[in-house]
Amino acid sequence: MKCKYMDEKCYEFHERDTVEKCFLCQENSSKLFIVRQIESMKMVHMCGECMVNNSSDYLLDNTRPWEGEKGRSE
Ligand SMILES: [Zn+2]
Repeated sequence: MKCKYMDEKCYEFHERDTVEKCFLCQENSSKLFIVRQIESMKMVHMCGECMVNNSSDYLLDNTRPWEGEKGRSE
């Protein structure tokens, strides 16, 4: 896949992240948010409930127009 953004490296996904499941509870939610894990500074998918419960460890990142697919740079 062609790299669409110049800032691709700033939006690296966590190696254990999956596109259609919550990073924490593994729930297959239709509404997943893309947030940044503060510890690793990498992006993960997360359901709303986990986001609220872990808001001190994860940041909502709305600085980019996400298209719903995992932003791989390969
Ligand atoms: Zn969850």
